[in-house]
Amino acid sequence: MVFDCDPGEGANILACARVALMLRDVLGDLGLKSFAKVSGSKGLQVYVPLNSAITYDETQPLAKALAELLAQREPKLIVSAMAKRLRTKKVFIDWSQNAQHKTTVGVYSLRAKTYKPHVSVPVQWEELEAALETRDVEALFFTPEQTIERLDKFGDLFKPALALKQTLPAEIRRHLTQARAPKAKHPDSLKTYEAKRDFRKTSEPKPAPQRSRQGSRRRFVIQKHAASHLHYDFRLEMHDVLKSWSVPKGPPLKLDERRLAMPTEDHPIDYLDFEGIIPKGQYGGGTVMVWDIGTYELLEGNYYKGFLRVYLNGTKLKGEWTLQRFVDGKDERDKWRLIKTQRNTRAISKKRDDESALTKRTMGEIATAADAQWQSNRR
Ligand code: MN
Repeated sequence: MVFDCDPGEGANILACARVALMLRDVLGDLGLKSFAKVSGSKGLQVYVPLNSAITYDETQPLAKALAELLAQREPKLIVSAMAKRLRTKKVFIDWSQNAQHKTTVGVYSLRAKTYKPHVSVPVQWEELEAALETRDVEALFFTPEQTIERLDKFGDLFKPALALKQTLPAEIRRHLTQARAPKAKHPDSLKTYEAKRDFRKTSEPKPAPQRSRQGSRRRFVIQKHAASHLHYDFRLEMHDVLKSWSVPKGPPLKLDERRLAMPTEDHPIDYLDFEGIIPKGQYGGGTVMVWDIGTYELLEGNYYKGFLRVYLNGTKLKGEWTLQRFVDGKDERDKWRLIKTQRNTRAISKKRDDESALTKRTMGEIATAADAQWQSNRR
């Protein structure tokens, strides 16, 4: 577990040292040993080696809760919220680093921030206390030469980070596990899905009690759907269902490009690999292709707040996208936008656009294939 102490405008590394020491103490209360290193730039990081069976599903909420606790205790010094404008003269404890695809500078890395590089160096807690006492900012910046001297003198202070086995207190783990346990076996939110379909006539999956996958990598699917209008259905595994949006023009591929995404009813998790034909006259009648399928990671946000920044790892799509709910003055219905964020992604050729991520079939092939045969191949 890691905490990145990042000073805002008007705060310096000494403020970070104060925050790091507070983190050390609160972690110590939980029976956890922690280790600090300077970033070599402006801030400081606190590492809590675990080296035990645990996922970000537990470490991120705990890191967030501790950051919020300290922000409450010292509101003039600490913020736990992402917004940059809140950080002036304060230290931001970035708990969100406890996630896949997040990076932090490694120990002993050179930082080319000034004409003379500094190094990201492990420091002893006593050194932070001494620097605070003497108000000596310089004491927490190390040149490459000083770093080598320190290594000779102290050895690798960060060795325990890779070796020390620690576990979170049992009652905290229990709490974190309960907090994310599903409430209902058969999610109520699938009632709309069920009501719209006649399962004697369509081969789409019937809602069945199913829990969504735990851990940080959940599944997603984009289905190309030739219904009355061709569109793409974007679905994210979340809260034991597939949260769904209909994206008429398909996912955007170029940075900042945005596409309308209309929310549709939650679908059962079994819908992830549904490919085939919905009979004419049935709801959504037409051909469905699994256009892309894979895992995603929630980088930031929350469905109910109408903001989700996700990293998709599919067969066609790889990278970051953002889903954002917005209000349209003329229309009372919820609308969302699917936005390509972070960077461009590779263009998709006409041929790949018409190729199933699951079976390599084209829309035409799916439409003419015997649906029953495909059904028998399903798990
Ligand atoms: Mn559809």
